[in-house]
Amino acid sequence: MPIDQEIDELTRVIEQARRAVVFTGAGISTESGIPDFRSPGGIWTRMAPTDFSDFLASDEARRETWRRRFAMEGTFREARPNRGHRAVRELVRRGKAAAVITQNIDGLHQASGIVDDQVIELHGNTTYAHCLDCKTRYELAALRSAFERDEATPVCDECGGWVKTATVSFGQAMPVDAMRRAEIETLAADLFIVAGSSLVVYPAAGFPELAKHNGASLVIINREPTSLDRIADLVLNRAIGETLGAAVGVD
Ligand SMILES: [Zn+2]
Repeated sequence: MPIDQEIDELTRVIEQARRAVVFTGAGISTESGIPDFRSPGGIWTRMAPTDFSDFLASDEARRETWRRRFAMEGTFREARPNRGHRAVRELVRRGKAAAVITQNIDGLHQASGIVDDQVIELHGNTTYAHCLDCKTRYELAALRSAFERDEATPVCDECGGWVKTATVSFGQAMPVDAMRRAEIETLAADLFIVAGSSLVVYPAAGFPELAKHNGASLVIINREPTSLDRIADLVLNRAIGETLGAAVGVD
């Protein structure tokens, strides 16, 4: 399909939808300068991520986790929402999209102006930390200056539990509440738009399948083909920002 026709088709599908859900992955945030950890040549192909059981068991693993996180802080702090995030926000603002389900941990959907309640984070959020036991929230700037003094790994002031970024690590259970909300939104949607996910990480990648089996239209916008292209109603192997931006009418 010629490029303009693809955009027209996407616009038409969005206009016809009564209630959409947008599901985002790394591909929307690489356009804001956040690296895709899982991509070929990405950080995780060179340096295995810490498993959650190691984080709990080993002080050295906790130190290494925090060292790596603080090394990434400039990247996360400087990243700003891009045209793709703005297009998603516009769909939410118009009431077209009821929620955003994201695999991203960078908080850029909230930074674009979508309220917390409408962003469902399947893999948590790395822009702040919390106590693993009592969930007291901690800001990274304060943790970082303490860590850089003596590399002591942070513990909770309230209960003594380990403090970790609010992300879901490898080996850590998926967040029950986010998974349930994502399922409810998926089943309520008549249009499910995947933007920038290669749909390889389960259980997250099960949501577009669920939507399709439930009768929703499935649109996949991703630079590379995905395993669900064969069941999708529309597949656009293109950049997210320019594609969604053009279809929604947002710069
Ligand atoms: Zn605590």
